[in-house]
Amino acid sequence: MQIQPSLDLSRITDRALCAVGEKVASGTRLSAGDAKILFTSPDLLGLGRIADYANRRRHGDIVTFAANQHINPTNVCYLRKTCVFCSFARLPKEEGAYHYTLDQVFAEAESAASGLTKEFHIVGGLDMKAGLAYYSDIFRGLKSRYPHVHIKALTAVEIAHISRIEKMSVEDVLVALREAGLDTLPGGGAEVFGRGVRMTIADKKLAAEDWIAVHRTAHQLGIRSNCTMLYGHVETIDDRIDHLTMLRDLQEETGGFLAYIPLAYHPDNNELGIELGRQGSATTGFDDLRNLAAGRLFLDNFEHVKTHWIMVTPFLSQTALSFGVNDLEGTVVREKIYHEAGAHTAQGMSLDDILSLIRAAGKIPAERDSFYRILRVFDRTAASEPVAA
Ligand code: SF4
Repeated sequence: MQIQPSLDLSRITDRALCAVGEKVASGTRLSAGDAKILFTSPDLLGLGRIADYANRRRHGDIVTFAANQHINPTNVCYLRKTCVFCSFARLPKEEGAYHYTLDQVFAEAESAASGLTKEFHIVGGLDMKAGLAYYSDIFRGLKSRYPHVHIKALTAVEIAHISRIEKMSVEDVLVALREAGLDTLPGGGAEVFGRGVRMTIADKKLAAEDWIAVHRTAHQLGIRSNCTMLYGHVETIDDRIDHLTMLRDLQEETGGFLAYIPLAYHPDNNELGIELGRQGSATTGFDDLRNLAAGRLFLDNFEHVKTHWIMVTPFLSQTALSFGVNDLEGTVVREKIYHEAGAHTAQGMSLDDILSLIRAAGKIPAERDSFYRILRVFDRTAASEPVAA
């Protein structure tokens, strides 16, 4: 029997935050004003306490992860010059540009042959040569080789790009990709929805309303998705709150989001980092934990909040497991996008390391599938084998 968590408000030093804690304890939805307190209170531990309580109410001590592999078939992107925060993209003839052949994609996917990889996470640039046929062939090829592997692929921005170059509706693109093997959509490309922020960091990128519309269409077709917010650059607290409000509203309407994943901006090797004078200096641990905890509390209609250890380090992700987070980015295998932007973490993590990380935080590791269904629960300590398979 799971013990019901309790929230000791007497240990919260900020009175305004305490009032927010009372609302959380009574199940009252938080307002934008409450969110402002979450994003500004100096009592980080108090915020963590409330978020941990909200998380434990849903998940107890279980922390999930997936055995996944990232594949980035192309870094060619025609928005290379206008997404100034991006270190990954290249113009077609630029040094370092690549566009995988199908055989190269399948060669990269070979780790799935071991049976350990259960999900491919596939995203790339807006490459004029990467249209519906290219991705359909990739998905079909992967599914025929590894029928057990889930394909989570193509951000809303990429879906809209394919729709444009193929002169098809977003709905028709999604239906065709699903027939080819697409299972769910990742949450990237959202950045920060505010018009002013988008004009500064990504002024030619898919508009906020259109990003939302792609996810709405996917949800209406029964295709689940994730969502993100890229924080830590030029956005204000109000921008963050407006962004989260749009995500919460869509979730209220469709219920199609699986998880919220705040993403920390990395300033290396991109124009924005130079402009801000931030090379080598990513977000602070304080802000990383705050974003995760605020997401857990404000997005009360989301079941899962994920920490991306590649962006914030495994140790901060481990700490985040006490700040409202119930899911840890998985094995990954070979990450490229954030390493181009200065991430110093490893490009993948072994199963043993993931288990150790979760256990050392006093939590119970559990492997999940891409729909967050638990596949096997491990013991709290390393001595035992999985208790369920
Ligand atoms: S963020 Fe995405 S759309 Fe923008 S340049 Fe990079 S790969 Fe292209």
